[in-house]
Amino acid sequence: MQSGFNLCLDAVRRINSHGKSETGGVSRIAYTEKDRLARETLVEIMHETGFQVEIDEVGNIKGTRWGSRPSAPPIAVGSHIDTVPDGGKFDGILGVAAGLGAVLDVAERCPDHVNPLQVIVFSGEESSRFGVSNVGSKAVTGYMSLKDFFDHRDDQGISVFKALRDFGLSPEKADRSRILPSDMKAFFELHIEQGPFLDQTGIDVGVVEAIAAPTRLFLEILGESAHSGACPMDMRKDALAASSEIVLAVERLAKEESAFKTVGTVGDCKVFPGVMNVVPGRSSLKVDIRGIDGKSIDRVFDGLLKEMERISASRNVEIKKKVISRGEPVVLDGRLRWLLGQVCEDMEIGWTDMPSGAGHDAMYVASVIPTAMIFVPCVGGISHSSEEKVEIGRIRPGYRALVEVIYRLVTKDR
Ligand SMILES: [Zn+2]
Repeated sequence: MQSGFNLCLDAVRRINSHGKSETGGVSRIAYTEKDRLARETLVEIMHETGFQVEIDEVGNIKGTRWGSRPSAPPIAVGSHIDTVPDGGKFDGILGVAAGLGAVLDVAERCPDHVNPLQVIVFSGEESSRFGVSNVGSKAVTGYMSLKDFFDHRDDQGISVFKALRDFGLSPEKADRSRILPSDMKAFFELHIEQGPFLDQTGIDVGVVEAIAAPTRLFLEILGESAHSGACPMDMRKDALAASSEIVLAVERLAKEESAFKTVGTVGDCKVFPGVMNVVPGRSSLKVDIRGIDGKSIDRVFDGLLKEMERISASRNVEIKKKVISRGEPVVLDGRLRWLLGQVCEDMEIGWTDMPSGAGHDAMYVASVIPTAMIFVPCVGGISHSSEEKVEIGRIRPGYRALVEVIYRLVTKDR
């Protein structure tokens, strides 16, 4: 009998035989041929290991190993197997593969389990193709409507709706795939951290407290272009100098909230006309504020609006703002988080509570089903890159915690 952890590593390898990129990474974009092949391989592995497979209207794959009572609510594990272009071998895939292994291990340790055990693969998790993320998990939890399927398009103009249809799915019937609170007893997602914290601290397991939802702003700073030699310093309306103050304000305001784990970033700045001897007349900034404490995010947001007013007045520039998103952080299930901490203590696994700055399928599932997330370390915190790596020895503790937590939750028929 193959051990669950070996099945997990083997499944990662087999799924990653589809979409290998030239740089050693993986390009398996949602609803493309590579994605289809990987999904077929996954279904094959599920069949080999005793799962019954169903695929819903939006392409989520659900593998079930039945317990003694089919009507009991399943305990499920899941993640995604699509990637960004030239992405890594573990982002998403590891959570699916760990689920397969964990279900096998629990079933072997507890042959008389009552609850069905499930592995779910959510389709279209990465936003790189359509500019919208988590298509599968949003559709089943009511966060994505039919209109959204038509509105979001890829570079070729293909809508999510058409891509799903071309994939042999039925997005017009997405409603039939909705999940209800009674559909699962608990949902777990194991995922690489995609940040450097666990790698640098040597802690093996992160129990995710909450998943950040970004607050995003697009700012346009309107000053006045002028000759860089002829315009005196006190007569300028320099849009880039004003933008620089805004960038530093975002950094300072977020740093003041670091105790609440809030972060703020300006990741994009454009300057017009962008010429060496012209005082910049216009610039634009993209601001991304994230955290797991709504009030802390509000303080950074409100503080930034005040700073923008001050900068606008003192520099005599106009600042136009567009709020692109204002998401609420998702707090994961307290009881499951407590149980995971307890499991790690009992197994002498080093663990910590931590936030997730990145979005995951778990954040949508959490709106319907008690949900928890386990983070495992990735080398250097590098992800969404062909450089993404894990040390096998360092993902094993997270895997063992996943097996143990499912084992403790499953009802035994004795
Ligand atoms: Zn992922």
